[in-house]
This record gives sequence, C-alpha cells and structure tokens, in this order.
Amino acid sequence: MARRVEEKVQELSREQTQLTAILSALIEGVIALDHQGRVLFLNPAGEALFGVQNASIRGGSFWEVLRHSPLNQLFDKTLRGQKPLTEEVVLFTPAERILSVHVLPVNYGDGQTGALAALHDITELRKLESIRQEFVANASHELKTPLTSIKGYVETLLEGALEDPKHNREFLKTIQLQTDHLMRLIEDLLDLSAIEARRIRYHFEPVSLKEVVEQIAQNVAPLAKAKPVTLDLRCSEDLPRVRADREKLGQIFMNLLDNAIKFNKPGGRVTVTASPGQGFVTVAVQDTGVGILPQDLPRVFERFFRTEKSHSHDIPGTGLGLAIVKHLVEAHQGSVTAESVPGQGSVFHFTIPLAIDQ
Ligand code: ADP
Repeated sequence: MARRVEEKVQELSREQTQLTAILSALIEGVIALDHQGRVLFLNPAGEALFGVQNASIRGGSFWEVLRHSPLNQLFDKTLRGQKPLTEEVVLFTPAERILSVHVLPVNYGDGQTGALAALHDITELRKLESIRQEFVANASHELKTPLTSIKGYVETLLEGALEDPKHNREFLKTIQLQTDHLMRLIEDLLDLSAIEARRIRYHFEPVSLKEVVEQIAQNVAPLAKAKPVTLDLRCSEDLPRVRADREKLGQIFMNLLDNAIKFNKPGGRVTVTASPGQGFVTVAVQDTGVGILPQDLPRVFERFFRTEKSHSHDIPGTGLGLAIVKHLVEAHQGSVTAESVPGQGSVFHFTIPLAIDQ
C-alpha cells in the first residue's frame, strides 16, 4: 500500500514537472485564474510581459495584483459567459506591447470554472503592418506627384498651349523630365521589392573591384562632366579580388557615385578608395559636396527619405537608392555606413568580403 502511494506521488510529481516545463517553454504568456478571478499560475513568458513574478502574485485577485482593466473585463466576460473569447489588448507597463489574448473557461476539476488565457505578443507584427502601410502611402504619393504634373501640362497643351510656340517645347520638356522621374521611381521600386522579397538570385564569384569601379565611372562620366566634378579612382593594381555579384556590385557603385556627383558642388571631387583588410575590402566613396546634417544622417538609408536640401534644390532622385545599396551590401555579408560634415562633404564606407580562391 505504502509503495503504491509512493509510486503515485512520484508519478504525480513527474507529471507536475512535465507540465511546468511545457508551460515554461511556451513563447506565449499563460495565466490561469480560479472561479473568483484569483491567479493560480503565470508562466515565465507571462512574467516577462507583466514584469512580475509568479510566486509573488499567486493567490491574489487578478485585478488587485495586475490592475489591467481591459484584461480584467475580458476575464469577467469569459467567466460569466462561459465562452472562449479573443481580443486585442495593449499593455503599457513595463513596456508597451500589443497582445492578442485568447481566454477560455476551464474546469480545473473542483466543480468550479476558472479562466485560462494565452497571451500572444503581436507587437512586431503590428509594427511590420504599419511599416507596410506607410510604404504604400509613401509610394503612392511619390508616384502621384509627377503624374499630377504631367496631367496638368498635357491639359494646358490641349487647351491651346500646343499652338503657343513660346511655351509648347518647354512644357513638353517638363513632361519628359517627369516621365523620366516616374520611370526611375518604378524601376527602383521594382528593384527594391525584388530584393526585399528575396526574389533575386546572386551569382557570387571572384570579382575585380577595380574593373567594376572603372566601368561604373565610365557610365557616370557624363554626369561628372556636366557638374563639373573630378572623379578620382584610387584602387591599387594588386587589390585582391572580392566575392561579389558583379552586376549588384556595379549597382552599389552606381548609386553611391550618382549621389556623390549629384550632391557635390561645381568644381568638386569624388574619391573612391579601396583598402584590403582582415577578410574584407573596405571601400570609401568620398565627396566634397553639400553634406548631410547630423539629424538626417541615420535616416539616409530609409526608403523614400530625402533631405530638405535635395527637395529644395530640385535634385532628381527617388529616395530609394541608399535603401537598395544597404540591402545589396548586406546580401554580400558586408555593411555600409555614412559620415558627413555639412557644407564640406560626405563619405560612404562599405565592406565586401575577399574571394577565397584568389
Ligand atoms: P536619392 O534618389 O534621393 O539620391 P538616396 O536613397 O540615394 O535617394 O539618398 C537619400 C537622400 O540622402 C538623398 O536624397 C540626399 O538627401 C541624401 N544623400 C545621399 N547621398 C548623399 C551625398 N553623397 N551627399 C549629400 N546627401 C546625400
């Protein structure tokens, strides 16, 4: 008899340990209340959400120990209605978290019905949703601006300006500029969405960085000449090859050089240097341009971010170039940073891994 009791006790204790281990491992917060709304149990994820210890609140009424009105009402409703309920609630302390709470009535075996709640932290999900909504709103706005202008000029031309030899070419030129801008915007958006959805394939191979820079410098030479700025490429002949996708590496340089020229002053200089280090080559694209204010600097890699300067000086751009650069550099296992002295110039550094088989 004594042995059987002993075995039973051991079995119960084992089950209890298993149950606690399972509840402790859950990412969701779990809170159990008895029929009078007293806390029976709070798992570690729940402890973290509420910033309290299970042991210190056990036995206390939920309202007294945790003082969360919407949750309290949810528990009340569940206990009275005897039906499972799901609601979204916001916790403000110890940190602001958005929770999806699923509460169900449970019979703990004592003839009384308590409530069991699973608290699912959906803060990150909501944040991502709001980033996406903001992105759609921004993209629509950016697309609408040039279209509104094109529509306006087309209407003016149709209403008679077409016959006005003084203005018709000028209006058509504006339409052409705005159409070019729209094309660039759509190309950048398509690029960014393909990169972010990981729909593009990278063909990593040993690449001569010097060759890529020289190629891109040729492409931007007309821009540099028009400003005018001097392009100064300083990549030594014996620079080891890097592990890169040739085309994407070109796109990184294209965006950085384009900015370094666009935001430069007439007579300025753009210097590209590449220095090999431990497993990486560090590239610097330095300009002698208008620079970036300290408060804007952390934001330049954000999608659609353009400083006041680029808006007010009507410098063409989409605000997507650096967001694309950041994604591409990170896909190469590198990182990109920006430094600037307003009025004197900026320097963008990025790293790119060395190819293994040189
Ligand atoms: P954009 O198409 O406008 O060039 P980017 O994403 O490439 O978009 O750059 C975002 C913004 O960061 C630019 O509009 C500009 O305000 C600022 N910026 C980027 N590069 C430079 C630079 N070399 N010098 C000064 N400002 C820069």
